[in-house]
Amino acid sequence: MHLHNNLSKNVLAWYDNNKRVLPWRVSKKSIKKHYYRLLSEFMLQQTQVKTVIPYFKDFVFNFPTLKSLSLSNEKRVLKLWEGLGYYRRARNLLATSKILINEHNSKLPKSLINLKKLPGVGDYTGNALLAFIHDQPTIAIDGNVKRVFSRILNKNEKKIDFNKLIEINKKYLFKSKRNSDFAEALIEFGALICKPREPKCYNCSIKDMCKYFKSYKKFKKTKILKVKAKNYNIFCYIDKMKNKIALTKKHNLGFLNKFYLPPVKESQGNKKIKNWNFHSNFKNSISNKKLNINLYYKFSLKIPPQHRWFSLKKNNEFIPSFTKKIFKQISK
Ligand code: SF4
Repeated sequence: MHLHNNLSKNVLAWYDNNKRVLPWRVSKKSIKKHYYRLLSEFMLQQTQVKTVIPYFKDFVFNFPTLKSLSLSNEKRVLKLWEGLGYYRRARNLLATSKILINEHNSKLPKSLINLKKLPGVGDYTGNALLAFIHDQPTIAIDGNVKRVFSRILNKNEKKIDFNKLIEINKKYLFKSKRNSDFAEALIEFGALICKPREPKCYNCSIKDMCKYFKSYKKFKKTKILKVKAKNYNIFCYIDKMKNKIALTKKHNLGFLNKFYLPPVKESQGNKKIKNWNFHSNFKNSISNKKLNINLYYKFSLKIPPQHRWFSLKKNNEFIPSFTKKIFKQISK
């Protein structure tokens, strides 16, 4: 479990010459640092850098400071988050901004325990913030970092205790005293060099200390089990004249609760539904869930209680991407 003494030195040297210019990477002395890092870490949870960039820019254009965000409301924040998915992050970010403004003088706490008291901050985000903002000797262990260490050791990720690995090697990992840069460099290195498929081993600055590269017998990755799709029927009440659809928050799709959707029912087979017109079948993935959807519709001017009409074209209110896909299907 011992890593090479020069690992951090080589990774940092690579980082200094190759790091990407990203809008949240502001100077260490910038007053924007706390806010930009907090926002980007929330946005980057489960989402790729290239997807996050335009959202980040738009967000800071609308909310240039943590204070301006904290004074906003959920409706506006969700509208700006629209399309980025995992909307709980947006709610948590807003709640966290209010706590930081009201209780922490706009600054992020300096301990993992206190950071984790903030909504939406777990071990990964907490460690990332400790390193990136407070320059503490810690590493945010994401998929990139796990992959890099796992290949250096030529060992399946499942067989590595990453916290122990860092603890054992901390003397060497943090010897440069550039803790923030090193935590970021490792993630960047995994994303750009030690990539999931086709790692760039021949251009790699640490290949001499990498057992995966040097070994004829590479470790075997754990196969990811395929998630089985669940069947759902979705029922759309349509006002044909006004081009509207009825949505409700009482729709039986637990993981999208609090959001507007047409009524949904899980189904066991492909049995036709009485009194509804079959429209189409489509497949969708949300988070790690796979959905096989049968879409039904009926023209109606009446809608059940706790439903509201929405335009199929344009709404000022936040509409989750999943609901927009239904709009698209039903408008075909
Ligand atoms: S040599 Fe290849 S596998 Fe090893 S760390 Fe470098 S890119 Fe990753």
